[in-house]
Amino acid sequence: MKPLEELLRPNILNLKPYSSARDEYTGDSGIFLDANESPFNYPYNRYPDPYQRKLKQVIGKVKSVEPDHIFLGNGSDEAIDLLFRAFCRPGIDNVVAIDPTYGMYSVAAATNDTPVKSVLLNEDFSLSAEAVLAAADNNTKLIWLCSPNNPTGNCFDNAAIEKIVRDFAGIVVLDEAYTDFAPGTSFLPRLGEYPNLVILQTFSKAWGMAGIRLGMAFARPEIIRVLSRIKYPYNLNILTQKKALELIESNKDRVKFWVEQLITERGRLADFLLTLPFVRKVFPSDANFLLVSTDDPKGIYNHLIDKEIIVRDRSSVTLCEGCLRITVGTHDENVSLAEALKKFR
Ligand code: PMP
Repeated sequence: MKPLEELLRPNILNLKPYSSARDEYTGDSGIFLDANESPFNYPYNRYPDPYQRKLKQVIGKVKSVEPDHIFLGNGSDEAIDLLFRAFCRPGIDNVVAIDPTYGMYSVAAATNDTPVKSVLLNEDFSLSAEAVLAAADNNTKLIWLCSPNNPTGNCFDNAAIEKIVRDFAGIVVLDEAYTDFAPGTSFLPRLGEYPNLVILQTFSKAWGMAGIRLGMAFARPEIIRVLSRIKYPYNLNILTQKKALELIESNKDRVKFWVEQLITERGRLADFLLTLPFVRKVFPSDANFLLVSTDDPKGIYNHLIDKEIIVRDRSSVTLCEGCLRITVGTHDENVSLAEALKKFR
């Protein structure tokens, strides 16, 4: 890979970060007259820990990663945005992303005035490492991969991902938001082998914590330090930090059970969907959703909305003609969906 100093935007490399009031004193107790907070209404009067030390320790244990390899953000969406801001000079640099994939990469690219070079997945949604690498040029700073991919649901071949990471001179961002639903496929245990790899994960999916907004980026400390320098000082509020500590502790043994249950339901739901005359195909899924090809996506979508069941119409997405994306719910929710679908036509 190119040296980090060459990949980063020069203004970011030279940026003097905002220093927050409690940079030096990290104790919990004391008389705090340093940050112009109110002395009333404890604990909400206090700014949160800008470095999220406790939370990083706990997450580090859960993920078997050292805290200095972890960035925490207001959802992984925050890390997506910061990666553009750190590396891509607006109007000059570009990124490569697969198509179809998660929509926020191109939104964050557009807000940063950074073109996206899209590389179409193969018909079977597999990834061509050669095509992705060939799309990159001298000004390509980031390659965006997502595995399991949204909305196609599949994991990519390890060898293809590995080839891209090894052969690309810039940064590869591997979004593993759905990795918990495909046990054993994460690259996180091998993060140390790849100095140019950034892995994104989230508490929004398997952990059931989308509402508190907590996402993670994992990378070597030099990259994490850059993201930390350019984030808003207090990007994770105290409610999120406190609630996350509480929920991680209380749910860490339950998540595996939730995941197993959703994987079982995913299989059942797929089998059922295939019995419907208007379903053409259910794509294999490594995630907590199914991509379903139908002969009338809009009709089915509207039929379900009438019954207050909301799915995602993905029929206008590349390679997803006719497709709905359906999140796997609880057993009862999936039964309600099945009953409603049986009444279509
Ligand atoms: N990556 C992918 C692939 C996603 O599908 C999503 C959410 N739909 C996200 C990231 C965003 O997750 P978060 O809630 O952590 O911002």
